[in-house]
Amino acid sequence: MKATAPAPRWTAPKYTPPKAFAKAVLPTPVPIAALMDIVSYNRDGRSPGERIVIERYIEALDGVVSDDYGNYWLEIRLPDGGRASSMFTAHTDTVHSISEDPQQHKLAIRDGILSRRGGGVLGADDGTGMWLLLNMIAQQVPGIYVFFRDEETGGGGSSYVAKHKIVDLSHIKRCISFDRKATSHVITHQAGGRCCSDAFANALAGQLNGLSFGFAFAPNDGGSFTDSANFTDQIPECTNLSVGYYDQHFDTECQDLTFASRLALALARVDWEALPAERDPKDTDDEHGWRYSGFNGYRSFLGDDEMVSLIERYPDEVAEILEQLGWDADTLRDQIAELLA
Ligand SMILES: [Zn+2]
Repeated sequence: MKATAPAPRWTAPKYTPPKAFAKAVLPTPVPIAALMDIVSYNRDGRSPGERIVIERYIEALDGVVSDDYGNYWLEIRLPDGGRASSMFTAHTDTVHSISEDPQQHKLAIRDGILSRRGGGVLGADDGTGMWLLLNMIAQQVPGIYVFFRDEETGGGGSSYVAKHKIVDLSHIKRCISFDRKATSHVITHQAGGRCCSDAFANALAGQLNGLSFGFAFAPNDGGSFTDSANFTDQIPECTNLSVGYYDQHFDTECQDLTFASRLALALARVDWEALPAERDPKDTDDEHGWRYSGFNGYRSFLGDDEMVSLIERYPDEVAEILEQLGWDADTLRDQIAELLA
């Protein structure tokens, strides 16, 4: 019967901006004004705006070094002088276009939500991740900090580091990227492949939820690609954490400033070194029956960019359309496995 069902009628839902996590922004060591300054620039990879932000906020850090690719590194030692086993990452580039005019844009804040005045890509993906790293550094949280380049165009900076092993990461047990939408995700799978254990994700979510009233972090297996995915065969626990942006890459992209400020304070109080490391990075088995094959494999599987954008923006609606067309999760999984085979 399903073959003769009429084509479903579907109209795009009316856009409503997300509601802010809290009433007010809390004061942070690196003020929220710095985040607003960062996202005011067009930061397409290798653009003048990205350069301005790198010079102003990253090259200004005491002890920061850059590698051959152009990524920036900084290490903060444990109080006893030993090396921490945590690595924290964000990316400096955005999906802005270098030809976009003007190169610096005006912002709007409404009820704690930051967006671009008149609409446009905000670049909280991943300006907010950068700003969170700056706050952790200001609060002297031990670990290795990496500001990766060219994440949006294929994860160039992180894949260079992973492939050429230019830095000894053998002591690193966890890699946390700050590059995830919404406010509650501890990502356990990126682009279909497992990146951290449930034990790790639950422990991190549990710590965070105890640090700020209202936090509701939980494991989430719906992650797409970010830099930490390039280290899953070297580092046991790799994840991506929600930083409070929404609609990334779209004209409606926005950032919850009230959430970002609370996260910036909570991250300094997490006992990162106490988190479990259970996943074996050499174990490439995957419960979905197919293996993540890097950024390019992921792109070719998803196909056309406009389709990808729509699916990312309206995942629930796309699932409904597929169901109306007679698809269910099992047939979809089989089809995906076939495509990746
Ligand atoms: Zn990103």
